Amino acid sequence: MNPKVAEERALKCIRCGFCLEDCPTYVLTGLEADSPRGRIYLIREAIAQGQWRDGAREHLDRCLGCRACETACPSGVEYGSLLEFARQRLVSDEPRTRDTIARLTLGILTKPSLFGPIAKFANALGLRRPPSWAQRALFGAIGVPRLPRPEKARGARSARAEGGSGDQVLLLEGCVMGSLFQRTTEATIRLLERHGASVRLIQRRCCGALDWHQGFEDDARAMARALMEVCQGDAPILTHSAGCGSAMKEYAALFAEEPEYAEKARKFASRVRDVVEWIHERGYRPPEQPLEKRVAYHAACHLAHAQGIRSEPIELLQQVPGVRLVPLKEAERCCGSAGIYNLLEPQMARQLLARKWSFVEESGADVVATGNPGCLSWIREAAEERGSAVRVVHTVEVLLGEVE
Ligand code: SF4
Ligand code: SF4
Repeated sequence: MNPKVAEERALKCIRCGFCLEDCPTYVLTGLEADSPRGRIYLIREAIAQGQWRDGAREHLDRCLGCRACETACPSGVEYGSLLEFARQRLVSDEPRTRDTIARLTLGILTKPSLFGPIAKFANALGLRRPPSWAQRALFGAIGVPRLPRPEKARGARSARAEGGSGDQVLLLEGCVMGSLFQRTTEATIRLLERHGASVRLIQRRCCGALDWHQGFEDDARAMARALMEVCQGDAPILTHSAGCGSAMKEYAALFAEEPEYAEKARKFASRVRDVVEWIHERGYRPPEQPLEKRVAYHAACHLAHAQGIRSEPIELLQQVPGVRLVPLKEAERCCGSAGIYNLLEPQMARQLLARKWSFVEESGADVVATGNPGCLSWIREAAEERGSAVRVVHTVEVLLGEVE
């Protein structure tokens, strides 16, 4: 985005403050500069003066990119795009060691063939939270890397990649989903097939969302171009990752300054659906066996705030026989995962996770359902650390009636 467009968007903020109490970082620090209104002001000021004021970057670093402020804003401020603009400018104008670390981390995380084996190896060595003294000594300054436990696949994932006689859909496995959540992908395929779909699985591809949200737009564009190449045709493109879905639906913005790709990106985006959205549109077929569970639904930010998909997952979960949906306080507030935020801003991320977990306990749920890999692994982390029996699963697993 060019600075003029960013300035126009920032000027839509009427400084009413309606977004403040919905901003997770403002709620924790109480600082105006850690609020959406404060951050928009910092961006406007930097555009007008051609430079960032001291400390501006730290407040922008602390933003989760959760976009809860967009939901709250009566003036329609497109905060997410302003944050992307600011981060992209900051990494090019004032590169820091932190950016290099973020880029290297994303270089691994977005490649399932690299990250999957690393996560398995790290788990085999016991390199998991709570962090050891060695991890703290090595990574203290930047936060201890999160080493989530990969799910054990049953092996049916790629076998179902082609064929079938139903309506064809493409399912993007995604990078983090591909590395850590293969069982969830298998469950998604089974659920889609139960709904009459013939699934073509797109493996070993990253949509570029993580890079885009971190300010590395060129890398994100390269990934988006490659993904568009392999997803040609008219079939719906489904995803079970809210972060991927929101980015792919916004590809046209990523290519706004490349007219030859912008149209292609728009067409691509019009085919993208979250898997829950697609099942809701098509009509849900519940499982025959009841699932006797109390389920709390955590709304992933990039599903609720970025894609506006709020009631659909709840309506579907209510139809699962045996399931009792229990209310979760602050269900639409970020859990602190936010891409690689929990690596770069571990303190704030931990505070948000503790808050989320306290509400999960209060809800009395024995299952937490959510629709994004970051939330899944981060909230699972909280359950494991506390030795809790609460299961944290993807929404599709509840819809399928298969929660172990
Ligand atoms: S994106 Fe989230 S953390 Fe950032 S300003 Fe908006 S509400 Fe606050
Ligand atoms: S709610 Fe919207 S217009 Fe009001 S202060 Fe927040 S961003 Fe600005």
